Parts: sequence; C-alpha cells; structure tokens
Amino acid sequence: MKSGIMRRFSCIRRWGIAFACVCLLLTGLLCGCGGRGTASAATPDPEASERSTIYVDSMDTFMELSAFGSTRAAALQAAKEEILRLNDILSIGLENSEISRVNRTGSGKVSNDTAVMIREALTLYEETEGAFDLTVYPLMELWGFVSKEYHVPTEEELAETMLRVGADRVVLDDETGLVTLDSGQAIDLGGIAKGFTSQRLMEIFREYNVESAIVSLGGNMQCLGTKPDGSPWRIGVKDPFNPDFGLSAIVKIVDKAVITSGGYERFFVDEETGTTYRHIIDPSTGYPAESGLSSVSIISSDGMLGDGLSTALYIMGLDKAADFWRSHRDSFDAILIDNNGNVYITEGIEGDVSSDHTIHVLR
Ligand code: ADP
Ligand code: MG
Repeated sequence: MKSGIMRRFSCIRRWGIAFACVCLLLTGLLCGCGGRGTASAATPDPEASERSTIYVDSMDTFMELSAFGSTRAAALQAAKEEILRLNDILSIGLENSEISRVNRTGSGKVSNDTAVMIREALTLYEETEGAFDLTVYPLMELWGFVSKEYHVPTEEELAETMLRVGADRVVLDDETGLVTLDSGQAIDLGGIAKGFTSQRLMEIFREYNVESAIVSLGGNMQCLGTKPDGSPWRIGVKDPFNPDFGLSAIVKIVDKAVITSGGYERFFVDEETGTTYRHIIDPSTGYPAESGLSSVSIISSDGMLGDGLSTALYIMGLDKAADFWRSHRDSFDAILIDNNGNVYITEGIEGDVSSDHTIHVLR
C-alpha cells in the first residue's frame, strides 16, 4: 500500500524538473573535490573535477551553488535565473508575486510551479495531521516574524487570528490552477519553497549533463550524484546550541537533500519574561512550537518533501516524529536533536552518520 507521500513522490519526479561564512567554510571543507574525477560517460569529461561556485542572495537567504564539469558555468547561470524567477512568483514581500495576489484578493490562478507547491502543502497538512499548515501566515504576522517587530500576542489576538488558520479551507483546482482561500486567510510557502527550489536545481543540472553538484540554500543542502571522485558528499548538521561553529553530526549522502529546521534560525526573546519564541508555529496552539526538539534534519531524495517534513517533525516532537517516520520510512530518514543535545537518527542512515555524541538509533 502506497502512502500519500510515496504517491506524490513519483508525481514530483515527473514534474521534472547566512550561515554565510560557516556554510562557505563547511562546503569547502566537507565537499571539496579530491583527486581527479572518474568520468562515467563514454567520452570522459576532461573538466569532470573542475568546480565553479556562485552565490545568490534570494528568498530571504544566502545561497551557494557549486557544479562540476565542462557545462558547469552555463548550468549555474540557468540555476541562478530559475531561483530569481521562483522568488518573483513566490515572495510574500513582492506585491505582484502570485502568492501576494492570492492573499490580497482571496483567490487567483497560479502557475504550474506554485500549484505543485500548494498541492504538496495541502497533502502534507493531511499527512502530518495539521502540523504543516500553509495558512499560518497570519500568526507569523501577529508574532512579528514578518515585520521583525516582535510581539507576544494577547489571548484575544491569538483567538481572533486562529479563526483564520486552517489549510482544510484552502481549495486548489488542479485542472485550472485556481486557488481559493477562506475569508481572512493568507498562505505562505516559506516552509517548502527552498526544498522545491533545490529539487528544481537538480533537474536543471541534469539537463545540462552535470553529474556532480551541491547547493546550499540557507543551509538546506541538496546534492547531485557523488563528488567527482565517486565518494559520497559529507554534509554537516549544525550543533543547535553552537550553530555558528559546531557540528552535531556529519551524514554521507548521494543524490539526496539534507534539509534542516532549527529553532536557532529565527527567534526573539521576550524581555519581560525571558521566554524565547521561535519562528516555527504550532498551528494547533498558535504559539511557536516547543516540542522538546532543537533541530530536525530530513534526508530524502525529494527536497520539497524534506523541507515540509523538517518543519512538521520539529513541531511534532521526538515521539510523534519517530512514529511518523515508522509509517513513511521508505520516503525519508531523519536526524533529530533534542533540547538536551541528544542525537537521534533513523535506522535507514545508521551506517552513514558520524558524531562526537552518542547516537540513538530509532527503529
Ligand atoms: P527556514 O525556512 O527558516 O529554513 P523552515 O523550513 O522550518 O525554516 O520553515 C519555516 C518557515 O515556514 C517559517 O518562516 C514560516 O514561513 C513557515 N512556517 C512556520 N510554521 C509553519 C507551519 N506550522 N507550517 C507551515 N509553514 C510554517
Ligand atoms: Mg521547512
């Protein structure tokens, strides 16, 4: 019996297609190419182990894209153009983006790409029993995560805003791309857009016959193939208690994404109470999620799924997240770090993770 995620997984395939210093350093250290590349094609690419890197500031984050081989320059240019194009249609900060238009008028037709993301978000809403909800945007605004003028809301404000939250009231017509929201609702694809984008970049690289590439979209990593020398990529998972300098684990991957949601990424401290509020909202309470987890990394061949699930499993907490993995174990693996720094990994990546900490394996 195929789960919804697995069904969508094959569908996504068909759709074909700042951390700054630390990320730069990490990618340099962990992903640097060693030795001459072994070309697998009939005619070996003399530039198989030559690397180029570009940097893109988009989607509210800092991105680093590296590709190897003789077509790398053209592939990277195409990748950059695609990022900018996607930002234009998705950005909530741009008045004329597709998302802003829908939010302003309550309905509107969207392009194929936006429709794929909204469909994914609606499926995730069902699969995660509401933990992933693309309608939390009014709550993000209320808490000040949009304007960065942070504010702890009153119970009345929360209750009023919660009335507008619920992805079960968003309708997408897959045939026409018409999206309709319930009154007062607003949607935000911030929880999956970067994963969709990194997935798309892999498609572009393939179209350019690139065999080896790695991208970091604000710390969300996705890799094409292996490193040019045939070895797996090694991706660092940040220590949530020392995100600028520490690593909690390193995972080896081939052709996969490692997408992390961490409470350390965006947060504010209420000066009156000393309470920390983080940018991932639990739609069942309206409050920033406090599930006992500090960071969740999803390892999957599907970047968009990984992005959505990193947010959702962070909200679920360890026990529910482990159960969710058990019923979807063919689609992804995960590295979960709790508030005490304990590192949990799922069985599927048991041989691929190294860490200075004791690793607890979920089975
Ligand atoms: P980031 O994008 O900061 O790397 P995430 O992938 O975890 O981290 O996404 C967080 C973003 O997702 C928030 O900035 C917000 O736009 C959105 N978001 C917050 N809570 C939820 C939720 N429960 N469901 C869906 N999206 C959410
Ligand atoms: Mg996410």
